[in-house]
Amino acid sequence: MDYKTVSMPATRSIALVAHDNMKPALLDWADKHHDLLAKHKLHATGTTGSMISARLGLDVNKLISGPMGGDQQIGAMIAEGKIDTLIFFWDPLEAQPHDPDIKALLRLAAVWNIPVACNPASADMMITSSLFHTEFERAAPDYDSYKANRPT
Ligand code: PGA
Repeated sequence: MDYKTVSMPATRSIALVAHDNMKPALLDWADKHHDLLAKHKLHATGTTGSMISARLGLDVNKLISGPMGGDQQIGAMIAEGKIDTLIFFWDPLEAQPHDPDIKALLRLAAVWNIPVACNPASADMMITSSLFHTEFERAAPDYDSYKANRPT
């Protein structure tokens, strides 16, 4: 795979997702960083997004609920370059019906080399980093080169 440098704007497009048992932790985290989050564009799976906007007053683009396709929507937006940061508090202690979608979302985040935090400690470190609130260059797959090397 060839890579190219992609510039992430200072205003990030952040996806927020939390499984049911992890929603209190994500809400606490978002409350703690409310003013920092308010500077960025927020997207979330349906229920997570509704809770964040209703309880914290943050503007959130609410997608479909995760088990009904929301994780897949976020994965597609990562592939399209519309989401550049993922905060995903998945539940390590309870099986989820949409496990394939969860794996797919985490896989696409790895493919496109976007920053991912899967627990509050990582998310704390990420959002308080000086790198988080400025333009940031990352390596991303060069899709034109990928296409050029596919069988014709
Ligand atoms: P939800 O989805 O925010 O709609 O609950 C989260 C998930 O389970 O992926």
